Amino acid sequence: MDHIRNGWFSEIKPLWPGQCMSLEVEEVLLHEKSKYQDVLVFKSKTYGNVLVLDGVIQCTERDEFSYQEMIVHLPLNSHPNPKKVLVIGGGDGGVIREILKHDCVESITQCEIDEKVIEVSKVYFPNMSCGYNSPKVYTYVGDGFEFMKKNKNTFDVIITDSSDPDGPAEVLFQEDYYILMKDALREGGIVCTQGECIWLHLDLIKKMHMFCRSLFPVVDYGYCTIPTYPSGQIGFMMCSKNSETNFQNPVRKWSEEEKLKNNLKYYNEAVHNAAFVLPEFAKKKLKE
Ligand code: SAM
Repeated sequence: MDHIRNGWFSEIKPLWPGQCMSLEVEEVLLHEKSKYQDVLVFKSKTYGNVLVLDGVIQCTERDEFSYQEMIVHLPLNSHPNPKKVLVIGGGDGGVIREILKHDCVESITQCEIDEKVIEVSKVYFPNMSCGYNSPKVYTYVGDGFEFMKKNKNTFDVIITDSSDPDGPAEVLFQEDYYILMKDALREGGIVCTQGECIWLHLDLIKKMHMFCRSLFPVVDYGYCTIPTYPSGQIGFMMCSKNSETNFQNPVRKWSEEEKLKNNLKYYNEAVHNAAFVLPEFAKKKLKE
């Protein structure tokens, strides 16, 4: 288990050269090789249970809400009436849990490549995987790229909750995949994808931003803070087929009562508005 030394897990990867996040390990709960990746779950000293795929932290019980709430509520509240939602990846179930907070959603289709991630999440991350019991959820096991080819004009929102572009998720960061997502969306549909980090992957984000702008009338890039993702931040590439969409101003807003019921811990309207305000270096790069 070469990612764990002297009781600390360290996320050492060429994707973030010269830096790494470390978490103190209390107990290793599972370590197995699935058909696609190395799967590790450990109980950490201060972040609860942690899911690691191929040496990369996917989620921790302490801070997962930030990413899950933002990757879901930014796009869903930017769509006037989302009924059919597709999730690619997201095997931990956190994204499904958040989508279920939108009563207007009639069905959630998920395509996750690795059955093992779903299995593991049901055992070690019950607070994330709780939505799998909903009758609105249809889960398929397979490659998201291939799944996308089979769907045309079907979904109101597509959320790609993928791991990094190294391994099975690499195809999900390419232009061909965005062309397929565009075709799989209904009129006025919206895409929101895991968009990496401006501190580490600005060239990749720039490249994606450019091809997205050639495909969709509206494209924006937002982000959230989260301690256990590299550099403490992760972004979202957001595209809409509706030229009227303004991602910075949600078209749907929750009442105070709904907010309480939905138990939101990160997302609120002001955070939504602010998520698209980029620091100067990133703004310049994306405008170039
Ligand atoms: N938000 C997390 C992050 O950025 O670290 C991602 C969490 S989620 C667990 C990522 C999921 O994407 C994993 O379960 C992985 O198996 C799945 N995945 C990777 N490549 C995929 C593909 N080509 N099709 C479908 N799912 C894929």
